[in-house]
Amino acid sequence: MDQFQRLDELILENTSPPVQVILRNQLHLTREQIEAYQEASNKQDATLARQAERIEEFLEENKKLVGRQSQDAVGTPFRVSDDYEFITESGFWIERKSGLRVCASCLLPPAKITSPLFEAVGLGLDGEPEVVWRCGHCGTDYFHKA
Ligand SMILES: [Zn+2]
Repeated sequence: MDQFQRLDELILENTSPPVQVILRNQLHLTREQIEAYQEASNKQDATLARQAERIEEFLEENKKLVGRQSQDAVGTPFRVSDDYEFITESGFWIERKSGLRVCASCLLPPAKITSPLFEAVGLGLDGEPEVVWRCGHCGTDYFHKA
């Protein structure tokens, strides 16, 4: 701003009214405009800085959330009974949503596979052939009840 001061002094020293008045007013106007521009620019800088800060905060928060989520995934026990109903007489599970019969050996950890059962001919307790529910994955047979 001392450039303006200098210019103002030069005008005072080297000119006389009415030119001096015109020049000084024009100078004053220019100075006001530049000051206003600078103020806006400073405000914009501050806004940008604040936004950058907020983005950093957001990223930090996001990192925490992701960390918590993966912790949840590890910490949450596998609860098969939320989605499946156990059929005691036959020994398999039925998926509540679909009614699908699934293999109990395959559903529980460590396998945790939803393996549907299909009807097949197996051997009954008396050694006679009978229809059973068979797992397509591990081949386990279940009593054909329910
Ligand atoms: Zn199985």
